[in-house]
This record gives sequence, structure tokens and C-alpha cells, in this order.
Amino acid sequence: MEFLPVFLRLRERAVLVVGGGKVALRKSELLARAGARLEVVAPQILPALEELALGSGGSVIREPFRADHLDQQVLVLVATGIEAVDLAVHGAARARRIPVNVADVPALCDFILPSILDRSPLIAAFSTGGNAPVLARRIRAQLETLLPAGIGRLAGFLGERRGRIRERVPDADLRLRVWEELVDGPVAERVMAGDEEGADVLLERQLETLKPGGEVFLVGAGPGDPDLLTFRALRLMQKCDVVLHDRLVSEAVLDLVRRDAERIYVGKRRGDHAVPQPDINQLLVDLAREGKRVLRLKGGDPFIFGRGGEEIEHLAAAGIPFQVVPGVSAANGCAAYAGIPLTHRDHAHSVRFVAGHLRGGTVDLDWSTLVQPRETLVFYMGRVGMPQICERLVGAGADPLTPVALVQQGTLPAQRVLVSTLQDMPALLARSDVHGPTLTIVGSVVSLHTRLSWFHPPRSPSHA
Ligand code: SAH
Repeated sequence: MEFLPVFLRLRERAVLVVGGGKVALRKSELLARAGARLEVVAPQILPALEELALGSGGSVIREPFRADHLDQQVLVLVATGIEAVDLAVHGAARARRIPVNVADVPALCDFILPSILDRSPLIAAFSTGGNAPVLARRIRAQLETLLPAGIGRLAGFLGERRGRIRERVPDADLRLRVWEELVDGPVAERVMAGDEEGADVLLERQLETLKPGGEVFLVGAGPGDPDLLTFRALRLMQKCDVVLHDRLVSEAVLDLVRRDAERIYVGKRRGDHAVPQPDINQLLVDLAREGKRVLRLKGGDPFIFGRGGEEIEHLAAAGIPFQVVPGVSAANGCAAYAGIPLTHRDHAHSVRFVAGHLRGGTVDLDWSTLVQPRETLVFYMGRVGMPQICERLVGAGADPLTPVALVQQGTLPAQRVLVSTLQDMPALLARSDVHGPTLTIVGSVVSLHTRLSWFHPPRSPSHA
């Protein structure tokens, strides 16, 4: 993070603006909105800027900049358009440790002015760190359409009742819950609809019937690309108190979990079960009994080779409320991003998802039932089991020329697809540097990959 977003109180404080043109005017308007007293210094000053400065309780100085203009100022904005002057003002401000912003020169900025969405007292600020202000403005405009007009009123309403709520609910954790329910629930609806009286009645009722109860959200995090999360997954990720995640949940997805939620890593790499399954089951129950909202985040879909069923069986037996949110399973994600339709009128009329477990070095499956005409096979295993998958399928009667794909880190920037045949894949794999989770797709649909693939993640420098 190149800049830390903070919100600055400028009311009645003096801010120096060096420059008298349009850019200075645009930035000054923002400062004036925050109540700053504008002191504008420049040999020439636009009338509108002068009017703004005087209206803010400040003044204009029609002179070239001098260092003593910095006396008493809390911020400096520079927009002269003359590089030498910009640099001089920047140097003088730096010498006095006054934060300075030079318009359009990110390298000379101690602070930047973000794009602002103003529903005071609710304010959102967007910044690209000076890289692409137009992009920040575009995002602001998009979000603007999502925020109800009454949201500012809601912020004000809640602000006025903060003290009362703190008094009534002294426990901080519980209070956080109350706030969340207020923001998501009928009280908020009332306020935004303009009925504050009704909202107060509902608020009072809610404060009288407080009861914290834990629950568990068993959520599918998808195969890695955070864009593949469901809305509900995201909502629950933002509202949990603690998250239990494992190796398959990508960093990019974890980044979207509420910042202050406690994180518990529970494994599992092949063969290394960081936390044994029975302990995970028990941990979920224990945390929920403490009144926590527990997010159990699982790669892909929780009900596909995810042991989600076992976890909720435990919860049900313990009487803990839970909900299950499906996710995009690795088979679907990898297939879509590799351009391999799992079924296709001309190729396959069914698809089978197969878990590949390595037991004592062998993949333990009933191979003879796996060789079926017009069926695609997806093995939730790749690099390790591949030689056996190929050999055993051919042994059970599959055509050695049947196409096979191995998808590495599907849907992620490091996605890579190896395509070959049952006969040649083991040799290709032996020559390739494959890592991360991998998945195997077997069947003639794989031949469509070259025509239909669209996802070309940037190559990492090591491959360039
Ligand atoms: N519940 C998960 C599957 C868990 S089993 C789901 O629905 O996707 C774990 C296996 O899934 C891994 O060994 C690998 O074969 C596969 N897998 C998961 N994510 C993957 C990804 N991004 N790319 C390739 N394979 C993946």
C-alpha cells in the first residue's frame, strides 16, 4: 500500500494553495467543501478561485510564492503548472514538514486527493495512488449507483445513537453484532425510508431481545479466482468473526475475508493433515458455542470431495445452526478456463467426477467401470496420480490416443494446461515443471481446448 487513506479534519484550518488557475480551482473546491480556510498565492488568480477563497474565510495573495506563506498552514496544494515553481514550493513545504501535494506529479505528493463519494457523513474515497485517477473516478461512479440515497441519513442516525447503544451493550463483541444487525436489518430500512420514529421503536425492541448465538457458514471459495465467488459467499466472508481455511483457498480470496476476523489455518497438504478432520469438526462446534460466527471456507465446492458433509453432520448433532454455500468446483473452473466443455453433443453425454486418493503409492479405483463411451472423466488429482491414471485406463480398455488435459492452478494467474494422450501424457509430464493443485480431464472433449481456450494468464518472468 503506497498511501494510507485517512480522513482529515480541515474545518477552520488554513490550507495554502499555490497556483491561481483551473487545476488549483478544482482542488480548492474540494478543500472548501471540507470547511478549510483557503489561502491562495499566485501572481494571477481566477476570479472564481478568489471568490471561493474569500467565501471560505481565507484570502488571496497576488504575489509569487515565498516560504513565509507557509506559516500556520496545515497542508499545501501546488498547481502552478511551472515545474521550477512546483519544485521550489515542494522543497519549502518539505523543509517545514508540512504535507504537500503537487498536482499531477505523484512523486512530489505526501498525500493525494482521492476520488470522493460523498453521502455525508458517509464518505468513501477511491484512489489508484496517482496511477490512473480516471479509473478511480469510474469506480466511484459505479458504486454511486449502488448506494441508496438514504445511506447518509442512516450514518447520521446511527451516529446519534452510538452513546446509547454503547451504554446498553457494554460487551464489545456483542455490540459489534448489534451494529451489524442494525445496518443490515429493518432499522436501517426504516431510517432510509425516512421513518426515524419507527426506526427508534424497532431499535429499542432489538436492544431488549439481545441474544448472541453462534453459527457456522460452510462456504465454497471456488477454485481460486476471487471473481468466481458467489454474492452470498462474499457477504458471509465479510460478516464472520473467525475463519477456518485450508491450502486450496487462494490468497486473493482470503484477502476478501473481513480484516479483523481471526484466521485459523487447518491444512491440508497431501499427507500432511495440519489439523485432523475430527479436530476441525470439534473446533467448529466449540467456536460456535462461544457465540462466534464461524466461516468454514473450502476450496471449490464444499460438497465435492470437501468433507463438508462430515462437518455439518457434526454441527447438526450438536444443534449448531449452519448454512452451506456452494462454490464453483475445480472441475468446472478448470474446464471453463481451459476451454474444455465437460459435455458436448458430439463428444460426451455424461461427465464423472472422480476423487483420486493415493493409497500406499497406488490410486485405488475400480478402473473397469471408468471406461465408458461418450463420458468425460475428471480426476481431482493431477501430477502425482497421472502416470497411473493413464496406464490403468488403457489397461481397462481405453484407447491410448484418448486426449488428456492436466490443468495446473486452474483459474489463477499461474494456470497452465498440458494436453496430450493417455499414451504420451506421462512422458510429457515428466519433462514439465508442474506445481500447485492440478486436475486431470480425460475424454475427447479435451480436443476442443485449442479452439476454445480463451484464458491466457500472464506468463511469470521465469517462463518469459
Ligand atoms: N472441494 C474441492 C475439491 C477438493 S479436492 C472442489 O470442489 O474443487 C482437492 C483437489 O481439487 C486437488 O488435489 C486438485 O486436484 C483439485 N483442485 C482444486 N483447486 C484446483 C485448481 N485451482 N486447479 C486445479 N485443480 C484444483
